[in-house]
Amino acid sequence: MFPTLEDIESAAKRIDGQIFKTPILPSPSLSEVTDSKIFLKLECLQNTGSFKLRGATNAIMCLSEKEKQRGVVCVSTGNHGRGLAFAAQQNGIKAIICMGNLVPENKIKGIEALGAEVRIVGSSQDEAQLEVDRLVLEQGMTMVPPFDHPDIIAGQGTIGLEILSQLDNINTVVVPLSGGGLCGGVALAIKSINPEIKVIGISMERGAGMVESLRAGKPIFVEELSTIADSLGGGIGLDNAYTFELVKKHVDETIMLTEEEIAAGIRHAYFKEQQIIEGSGSVGIGAALSGKLTNSAKTVLIVSGKNIDMTTHHNLMNGIMPDIY
Ligand SMILES: *Cc1c(COP(=O)(O)O)cnc(C)c1O
Repeated sequence: MFPTLEDIESAAKRIDGQIFKTPILPSPSLSEVTDSKIFLKLECLQNTGSFKLRGATNAIMCLSEKEKQRGVVCVSTGNHGRGLAFAAQQNGIKAIICMGNLVPENKIKGIEALGAEVRIVGSSQDEAQLEVDRLVLEQGMTMVPPFDHPDIIAGQGTIGLEILSQLDNINTVVVPLSGGGLCGGVALAIKSINPEIKVIGISMERGAGMVESLRAGKPIFVEELSTIADSLGGGIGLDNAYTFELVKKHVDETIMLTEEEIAAGIRHAYFKEQQIIEGSGSVGIGAALSGKLTNSAKTVLIVSGKNIDMTTHHNLMNGIMPDIY
C-alpha cells in the first residue's frame, strides 16, 4: 500500500511517547550568511542519535502479535541498526542486526548496548543479507528495511508534521537524501498539507543513488564511494517500490555537495551552533553555506543525526579531512 498523509498521522500517534519531539531553533549565523531566516530541526538530538528511531519504532509497532513474538532482523552498520535495536528493546521484542566482519568494534558494541544481538557474517553487506534471508525463512523473523517500506516512510514523515506544528509560514524545508525514506516521508507530509512549501533533497556528489536515479528516470545502480556523509551511502535498490516515486513526485529540487562542503557544515554546526553532528546530518547546513541553496524567506534545515566517530570529528575541527578516499 502506497503511504499517505493519513499513514503519517497514524504513525505520529503510534510512536508518541516512544520518541522525542526534537527542538527547532533559529540559526542567526546561517540566516546572516544566506539572507534568509534559517531554522534547524535538531533530529540529531533524537534518542539513539538519529531520526531512524521514528521509522523503526513505527514499523515495530505495526507488527502482528505473531510477528512480534518471532522478532525482527536487518542488515545495518549504522543508524538504522541502532534505531531498530532500541525500538525492539523498548517493546520487548528480539532483534538481530547482521553485519560483515569489517565493521569496527565500537559500532558493534554500540548496537549491543541497545539490547540487540549482533551477528557477524562474512565480510560484506551482501553476505550479511544472506543471513537475514535465512533468519526470515527458517525462523520466521521479520526483516525491517532501512527506507523502502510504508511503515518506515510514515515514521520518518512524522518529522514533517512536527515541523509544521512548531513553526508558521515556512517557505522551504531542506532534507538529507539517501534511500529517500526521510525525504520522501517528509515531502509527502509537507506537500499534502501545504503544496506551496518547497522541499529540497541534499546528497553528496560521491555516490548519490537517488539523485542519479531521478536523472535516469528509473532506479539505477550507483557505485558506493567512501564519503564523510557515510549514512547517505548505498543505492536505492533496483526493485525500489516506494521512495523513488515519492521523491520524484513531491521533492522540488535536489542538490549535491562536495566532501569539503559537507565538512564545512559539520564545522559550522560545532563552532557556531555548539552541536556535534555527523556528515549526513550536516548537508543542509553545508548547502546553505555553499550558496547552492536558493534563497527563501523562511527555511528549515533537518539535521538528521549526530553519530560520528569522535576522532574523525576532532580532526575535522582541526581542518584535517579523514583518510578515506
Ligand atoms: C539514514 C540517514 C539519512 C538518509 O535517510 P534516507 O531515508 O536513507 O534517505 C540521513 N541522515 C542520517 C543521519 C541517516 O542516518
